Parts: sequence; structure tokens; C-alpha cells
Amino acid sequence: MFCLFYHHKIMTDVLIIGGGIAGLTAAKNLYEKGLSVKIIEASNRIGGKLKTDIINGFRLDRGFQVLLTAYPEAKRALNYSKLQLRNIDAGAILHTDKGIFEFADPFRNPSKTLSTLANPIGTWADKLRMLLVKTEINGKDLHEIFTQPETTTYQALRENYNFKSSLIEQFLNPFLAGIFLEKELNTSNRMFDFIFQMFANGNGAVPALGMEQIPLQLASSLPKDAIITNERVVSINKNIATTENGNEFEAKKILIATDNNEFSESYRSTQNKTENTKGTTCLYFSMDKSIVKRPVLCLNSLQNRLVNNFVIMSDISSDYAPIDKSLLSVSIVTDNENKNFTEEELVEKARRELSFWYGTHAYEWDFLKSYSISDALPNQKSVKNTPSIEDLKIHEGLYRCGDYLLNGSLNAAMRSGRLVADLMANEI
Ligand SMILES: Cc1cc2nc3c(=O)[nH]c(=O)nc-3n(C[C@H](O)[C@H](O)[C@H](O)COP(=O)(O)OP(=O)(O)OC[C@H]3O[C@@H](n4cnc5c(N)ncnc54)[C@H](O)[C@@H]3O)c2cc1C
Repeated sequence: MFCLFYHHKIMTDVLIIGGGIAGLTAAKNLYEKGLSVKIIEASNRIGGKLKTDIINGFRLDRGFQVLLTAYPEAKRALNYSKLQLRNIDAGAILHTDKGIFEFADPFRNPSKTLSTLANPIGTWADKLRMLLVKTEINGKDLHEIFTQPETTTYQALRENYNFKSSLIEQFLNPFLAGIFLEKELNTSNRMFDFIFQMFANGNGAVPALGMEQIPLQLASSLPKDAIITNERVVSINKNIATTENGNEFEAKKILIATDNNEFSESYRSTQNKTENTKGTTCLYFSMDKSIVKRPVLCLNSLQNRLVNNFVIMSDISSDYAPIDKSLLSVSIVTDNENKNFTEEELVEKARRELSFWYGTHAYEWDFLKSYSISDALPNQKSVKNTPSIEDLKIHEGLYRCGDYLLNGSLNAAMRSGRLVADLMANEI
């Protein structure tokens, strides 16, 4: 138990509430500018949505997610070589009612996709269009992407980019649903352009030892005593934050770096409410031998699907599983159809679906654990890349950051953290 009376000592410059990627990036930037920082984190460790549990020798990320190496903010904030990033192959393996097909590298190298003539996915015209879209999107800078008129991704695919329905249904829909965590593709077209450009210019990757290595690396630049865990802030009064345990923390300025929850909502106007967040469930299975034997994303192209995508994590990084095992990660996009299923029902239905391609093997895999995250991503109908001053500053002395202010990505979380640090450092 802590009770810190900083007024008797040198007062901390900035108190940061929340130790997710946004809070950690803000802390790193403030500290590098010579300011003292304290992070107060409600849970037992920092990382927020990026956590990796080690269970029986398996590394289980809390939900399948990847770092896109082209993210401009990640390039600034992270040391990629120290993270020992392991790339996922570009392209995907499509699981359709007609069998399993390779869909090569549609973002980075659409011409290679053209050569995959054997696959019946999409028309020739669609594949050619992919090339044109790549050229068009790569020609835009991020400011242009994030200030263009907004529509839904689905509408942009059909009307702006003229893709035909088979390419959308069999490839783009499961691929994007796995990223946007919604199957209607109502997410802003700005996110489609952003994600497309990031995939075209880099890799999807995970650190060899799991996604939690990313927050750990950010935290490693801070002094050890800058992070306090198991303390949930319940109120802020002027420059003092009080926690559930009754402890008080004082600083010159306070930064709310929590997720978009009731606490942060109570400190802002109604403009971006905690509504329509996107959820996902990740099921982990252990198997004796990889069913894919490659670090590649597998998509389920069936329309009435439960399983959206899956990947063998230990094919991406062997550290994810004990030496004689493989780790299968299965992602389900939460929707009205499946939101009330129990864990047991999800596991049973996932096995049944995958048995269509993998036969009775699907019943031999050992179920390890599931993670259901109801607020994995904020509502992304309207997104941006750069926050306004009003987004970042609540009133004199009180600031905020977090992915939800911009869009649901690690890039956005880092960007909001870096920009609020710049603003606070100028005002201290
Ligand atoms: C399953 C899943 C898949 C994803 N896939 C991708 C992907 O592939 N690529 C990508 O770029 N992004 C992905 N994302 C999004 C990305 O993880 C988030 O955008 C990012 O981690 C959000 O960081 P944050 O700091 O804004 O918020 P959080 O990570 O939510 O951090 C907020 C922190 O504040 C703490 N907190 C909350 N309330 C209080 C309080 N009152 N007092 C003290 N502490 C408090 C919380 O415990 C938490 O640690 C995914 C997310 C999930 C969950």
C-alpha cells in the first residue's frame, strides 16, 4: 500500500493514469524531455491491450494482433531489432467451400496475385484493379488519407475502387473483418486506405516472445519507480488523483491515458461515447504438428462463418510453443449471432467448422484457453490521424490520450501519446 505525499518532496511533473501503449508512449516522450513521470495502472501490470500470458510453455497473446512495421509512430518509438520481430508472410490462405487456395501478396505485390491464376477468387479485372488501387493509395500521404471524405469501407470497395463482390466476399471481407473486428465493413474508408498502405509498405509482425514485449520495451526507458500497478484511479480533484485503495497521488499535471471507459468518459463532453466498440474472441489450441507449416494468415471465406481467421503462432515464432507442440490461434469476430455463445459452444463450433478442411484432426487438438475482449477496438465509423488541442486537453492541468481519440491501432495509441506529451511539455 502506498500513500505518497509529494508536496513534502519534489513534486512529480506528470501523473499518467493508465499504462497502455498510449500512456507508455507519453511517459517515454515526457521523460526524454527531462520531465518526471509516474504511471498509475489499475491492473497488475502495464501493457493495456497488449499482454502475453505464459501458460504451460505457450505464449498466449490476449487476442491475435500484429504490429504493422510500416506504422510511422512505431518506427519512431520502438527498436525493432531488439524486439526480434518475426514477420508473417504477405498474402493469405483462403479456406473456401471449394477447397483451400493461396492468395499471394495482394497488397505488396499485386502482380504476383495476378500470376496466381489457378485460384478462382476474384476476376482478372479485380486483380488488375488491385494493382491500380495500390498505386492510387500509395500515392496519398497520411494527411490526405485521413482528411478525405468518409464513407464505409464496403461502399469504397464497391463504388470508389470498383471491386466485384467475389473478391470482396472471399478475400477482402474476411481479411478486413479480422482487422476491423466487424463483418459489415462499416469502418471508415480512411482506415481501409491506411491499412492497405501499411501492408503495402511493411510487414505484419510479432515480437519473438509475444506482443507484450512492445509495452515492456517502452517501459524499459523509464525509471523503475515510475510505474505503480494495482491502483485504480477513481477521481481527480485539481492536481490530485485518488485511487480505489484511498491513496492520493499529486503532480503538476495529470494525463488520463485509460481506455474509453466510464472513468475517462466522465471527464469529457459527449462527442465520442463508449458506444459500438468492437469485440473478438480468441481460442487457443495445442496440436502436435502444425496444420499449415508456414507463418501465414488463414482466412475463412465462407459467408456464415464463426471462425474468421486463424494462424499457427509457433510457425511465426517458435518461442510461442514448447518444442514438441504447435500453437493454433483462432479468431472470432463478435457479432449478434455469436455474442451469447458460451466458451464451450465456441470451441465446439470452431472445431466443427475447421473439420470441413482438416477432418477429424480438429477434434484431436487440445483446447488451451480463450480470451473474449468486448472492447478490443473503438467504433471506427469516423476516424482521424491527428487530434485537435481540445481532444488532448480537457482543461488547465488535465489532459488525455488513447487510441479511441483517433482510430483503433497501435499507431494511433502511440501517436496520441507522443502528441499529448509535446503539448504538456510546452505548457509545464
Ligand atoms: C484483440 C485485439 C486485437 C488488436 N489487433 C490490432 C492489430 O493487429 N494492430 C493494431 O495496430 N492494433 C490492434 N489492436 C488495437 C491496439 O491493441 C490498441 O489500439 C492499443 O493497444 C490501445 O492502447 P491504449 O493505450 O490507447 O489503451 P489500453 O491498451 O486500453 O490501455 C489503457 C490502460 O488504462 C488502464 N486503466 C483504465 N482505467 C484506469 C483507471 N481508472 N486507473 C488506472 N488505470 C486505468 C487499463 O488497465 C489499461 O492498462 C487490437 C486490440 C485488441 C484487443
